[in-house]
Amino acid sequence: MDNMSTSVIRPRDQLSRPLRDLRISLLDQCNFRCTYCMPVKKFHENYQFLKRNERLNHDEIIRLVKILVPMGVSKIRLTGGEPLLDKNVAHLVEKINQIEGIEDLALTTNATLLKKKAQDLANAGLDRITISLDSIDQEVFYKMNGNRGNVVDVMEGIEAAEKAGLFPIKINTVIQRGVNEHTMINLLEHFKGSGHIVRLIEFMDVGNQNNWNLKDVVTAKELLDMIQDKWPVSPVNESYRGEVAKRYSYNDGSGEIGFITSVSKPFCGDCSRARLSADGVLYTCLFANHGTDIKQLLRSNASDVEIHNVFSNLWMARNDRYSETRKSYKPDESLKKIEMYRMGG
Ligand code: SAM
Ligand code: SF4
Ligand code: SF4
Repeated sequence: MDNMSTSVIRPRDQLSRPLRDLRISLLDQCNFRCTYCMPVKKFHENYQFLKRNERLNHDEIIRLVKILVPMGVSKIRLTGGEPLLDKNVAHLVEKINQIEGIEDLALTTNATLLKKKAQDLANAGLDRITISLDSIDQEVFYKMNGNRGNVVDVMEGIEAAEKAGLFPIKINTVIQRGVNEHTMINLLEHFKGSGHIVRLIEFMDVGNQNNWNLKDVVTAKELLDMIQDKWPVSPVNESYRGEVAKRYSYNDGSGEIGFITSVSKPFCGDCSRARLSADGVLYTCLFANHGTDIKQLLRSNASDVEIHNVFSNLWMARNDRYSETRKSYKPDESLKKIEMYRMGG
């Protein structure tokens, strides 16, 4: 990168939080239509997704990551939409993995295409994989993913990832009241003793399309009570500051589970995450209603130093803590938030 001596290195935001994690959405398309993320009514067959040239290309992504490492970014997560729909995702992983300073490179996927891609991703240097799976009951799974995904395919993806050495795997399970909480115990039982870590996620009010309502959120406390009735578990200490999930281990030694309590116990205090959408807009909070267009900057003649300074200034101005200030827990339709499929989960 060009000389950066004049710029601020490792900025802190208004709440003194550093920038460590960057989540990169590779594309806005997905082969699922999860009701809480891309409801089919809105994301129908004529829906206009971004065109290829509207998305950041891999060279642009790599340039940005190189610019952000000196600012403190050491963790990258590739996401989407569905990141495995990007045919060259393994090549991108290989390139990011070669960037000095990247200590942790992860990817989140619905795993339907993972069986074919797991080995290439592992060979390319992917450190960790997170797989989303809301239920192992096929009917319930269909209901949540818009009749698109099969449990069998996800299981085969998990198996392939294990074989490729991507272990342990985190399994993300969003719980919605009246939809899948009755299948949670089965899902936990399936993975208990496997070494994989199921993380139960409270249904969040991301974006404006998913009809979010507090009454549909099953809190971590409720889930924990249901689990304790079946298997005693005990809390595990945070393994690093800012860890997203609250961790518990089964007292019988058969592994760990986690809770992502964005609604009932927000964790903004240590949030060091920024998100880059597929069309190159930078967001400093998952619940943001505006972002900064970096693609335009990348496609102008801006130097690395100039881009670095834009990021630095953005980060230093950041004061996001949406989850901690969520008002009245009633969906606020006037607040136009960005959709998760767009900015990346
Ligand atoms: N398509 C990939 C997948 O599903 O794993 C990656 C992108 S997806 C947006 C990332 C994660 O966000 C998934 O684990 C998904 O369950 C979660 N997610 C999406 N909308 C959510 C919501 N409203 N509340 C909680 N989690 C949500
Ligand atoms: Fe697709 Fe992931 Fe959103 Fe489901 S949660 S619609 S798999 S992007
Ligand atoms: Fe971070 Fe925003 Fe989530 Fe708070 S609400 S943890 S600031 S992404």
